[in-house]
Amino acid sequence: MVYLKKVTYNMQKVYFKTFGCRTNQFDTQVMISKLKDYELTDDELNSDYIVVNSCTVTNGADSSVRNYISSIKRKNPDAKVILAGCGSHSKGESLFADKKVFGVIGHSEKENINTVLKNEKPFYQIGDLEHIDTTIVEEFVGKSRAFIKIQEGCDFACSYCIIPQVRGAARSHKEETILEQISKLASNGFGEFILTGTNVGSYGQDHNTSMAKLLKKMSNIRGVRRIRIGSLEPIQIDDEMLELLGEPWMAKQMHIALQHTSDKMLKLMNRRNDYKSDKILFDKIASKGYALGTDFIVGHPGETEQEWLEAISRIKELPLTHVHAFSYSKRDNTASISMKPEIRGNIAKERHKELTAIIKAKNYAFRREHNTNLEVLLENGKEGIYHGFDQYFNKIEVQSNEDLSANWVLLNHVEVNHEKNSATL
Ligand code: SF4
Repeated sequence: MVYLKKVTYNMQKVYFKTFGCRTNQFDTQVMISKLKDYELTDDELNSDYIVVNSCTVTNGADSSVRNYISSIKRKNPDAKVILAGCGSHSKGESLFADKKVFGVIGHSEKENINTVLKNEKPFYQIGDLEHIDTTIVEEFVGKSRAFIKIQEGCDFACSYCIIPQVRGAARSHKEETILEQISKLASNGFGEFILTGTNVGSYGQDHNTSMAKLLKKMSNIRGVRRIRIGSLEPIQIDDEMLELLGEPWMAKQMHIALQHTSDKMLKLMNRRNDYKSDKILFDKIASKGYALGTDFIVGHPGETEQEWLEAISRIKELPLTHVHAFSYSKRDNTASISMKPEIRGNIAKERHKELTAIIKAKNYAFRREHNTNLEVLLENGKEGIYHGFDQYFNKIEVQSNEDLSANWVLLNHVEVNHEKNSATL
């Protein structure tokens, strides 16, 4: 008689801690998809490896990562801590030298995570910043909207930003891989696609193509109903792009990063846009019925009262409906760090408040004027309440007894109030 001894393999467990932006969240997904010989865990205290996918965008982000590493080493001293992400490229060398982490990997090593973890000795594998992953990551919102990362890196050199130093120059994923992925998702019921990347509008320049060409090809895929671009720079919107504004599959909202509306500030920030052309561009796009969002940094050094007054009066002139306002935060190894005069935190806070209040009022006025023919893609609902966005990227709450998850609905009667739109179906 042969006795078979039952062997149970205890796979070693890996916990991922992600800091920072959506791109970093995507990068964590890439690593997770490559884990073959390890088990993914959501219990950081019982994991054998802790991969810290770090962010380094401000000095504050660096401290959060450092604090996390010290605290986790106290709580789970046996785990091997591996530093990944943007922080590897700025702080990896010193953290490794000080033995704060067992290993360091750069962006190009993410897809090798399964092999990297097998290192028995401490390792520093920073790789290069020219690599582009072969894995295109999607992130799903419910069953019908998908974010697709189509490029990596940035060729700009904004004074306050460390990103090009830690993510490298702009490079795009291959068009056929993107289209293949979108076809697959569209045939599985996804109707809305949101294109993202570090500097998404630079898509295609390294492959002799353009964002507009990609959009046209995407729109020919059966099932693709609405396309949104995460963010564009004003100078990336060329005539070919403007010609697409009337297309029914274009979401009727664009997010165009201005960062400021004072020309002196734009120069200090080493931006490539200027207010005069930004105003012409925004008016042109708004005249086609578009809602417009922007990013804006308040409190960057040099933003004196005079610059602020000019900026805010221009904000009032622009047809804006959405804003991501950021208060400037210091980042070593950038040009802005040594600029003077610095703006006190309480002043930046006040300016942030003033700016967001103006845009909130503009958004309310826009929603009052655009309260019919709203094409809304609803996400999963709970207890008869569904949420979704209309074509102008305004949030709407829908109450219904029917199951409307992942459904497109056309709304003609919505109640518009200061906080949001709502409707009953
Ligand atoms: S465009 Fe400017 S702010 Fe944006 S990632 Fe590039 S350098 Fe940074």
